[in-house]
Amino acid sequence: MYHLEHDRPIVQKYGGTSVGSLERIDEVAKRVADQYHSGIKKIAIVVSAMSGETNRLVDLVNGINPRTSPRNYDMVVAAGEQVSVALMSAALEKHGIPSKAFLGYQLGIVTDNFHSKARIQKIECAKLHKCWEEDAIPVVAGFQGVTGDLEITTLGRGGSDTSAVALAVALDAAFCEINTDVDGVFTADPRIVPEARLVKEMDFEVALEMASLGSKVLHSRCVELGAKYHMPIVVRNTFKPNDHARTFIMNFSNERKLEAPIVSGVTLDRNVVRLSLHNLPARGGIIGAAFQLIAENGVNVDIIVHNRSNDSDRMRVGFTIGSADLLRTKELLERWVIEKKLGAYVEVEEGLSKVSVVGLGMQSHPGVASRVFSVLEDAGIALHMISTSEIKISCVIGEKEGESAARALHKEFVLPEGEA
Ligand code: ASP
Ligand code: MG
Repeated sequence: MYHLEHDRPIVQKYGGTSVGSLERIDEVAKRVADQYHSGIKKIAIVVSAMSGETNRLVDLVNGINPRTSPRNYDMVVAAGEQVSVALMSAALEKHGIPSKAFLGYQLGIVTDNFHSKARIQKIECAKLHKCWEEDAIPVVAGFQGVTGDLEITTLGRGGSDTSAVALAVALDAAFCEINTDVDGVFTADPRIVPEARLVKEMDFEVALEMASLGSKVLHSRCVELGAKYHMPIVVRNTFKPNDHARTFIMNFSNERKLEAPIVSGVTLDRNVVRLSLHNLPARGGIIGAAFQLIAENGVNVDIIVHNRSNDSDRMRVGFTIGSADLLRTKELLERWVIEKKLGAYVEVEEGLSKVSVVGLGMQSHPGVASRVFSVLEDAGIALHMISTSEIKISCVIGEKEGESAARALHKEFVLPEGEA
């Protein structure tokens, strides 16, 4: 799978740490130069901003006005990649390779107009083909795009992965390589679960659940695109170019799926907050209207719980969202409750986390949920909310207990290397 066919290009993405200093940019450029001189010339490089830079830019814009327009926010935070693409291109030139850097609007990475979480709609590849005709290597800014009205957008934090896979799809690349500061996707975050081990091959379905559940390695939209367009994704460590440790993410055959482990990974998401609408009138259309309002504002809702006692004309809806959306969503709902004279109020609960187990084998093994609950109960951890799908079980718990819950679940379900 990891070979070049019919002159198809490859896309290589380098993350923030991989381009975090001039030395590192130079190291990456040297590696690309070696490939180029060995005959692999049809490469498109996608880079993130230098590590820490996007955080700095976010702090700047929030420091001046946390409620500024999303348009201003995007113009500030997209600036980091402008520097890194041109530095990478300059480093390639230094190593004797013609190169050209492109920002999103220069190439034509067209997105919708949901600022700060825009989705790519189309990528113009003509300029990349032109580069390759001239034996040049294009370096493309990740994370950013442009709307039909020439507004600058960004794809959400970590979005350069998505830029890379979208570009690989648009180019019909052989595969998309995500070069990062870890060896690949692990069964859990090794900083939290020391026994975590690398997963060598992972099905897209599992990768997608893990990415959207808080495993930080890949942006979830990038896995979604890979799955949809059958674009294999290879995650590997920039700083170990000769090491064979890496994760291949691909579509498993049905036979492979049957042999898959019950649990492939444990994830922990600390950015969970719960909003509850209390005392809502229990009449038709209210819940739909609330969630429509939230959706129209581009906020993703995760777990939803609804209660109403039989004899009451009032009800309660609780739901979790990412903490970044808290302020906005709370204000939105408070305004709505007042405007519509609903007599309801909004409650916020912070200090929560979500621990999840994910695996294809869950589909054919009953009893996984009860084992999850016993493990957490034995560890004295209280459950606030539960949500399940065919291949995952998620529990919202206190933030303080997140790490110990992840360790306990990993111990229960993930087999050591060799036994897996
Ligand atoms: N530079 C952006 C961020 O830090 C995008 C990325 O690195 O993927 O979120
Ligand atoms: Mg990233």
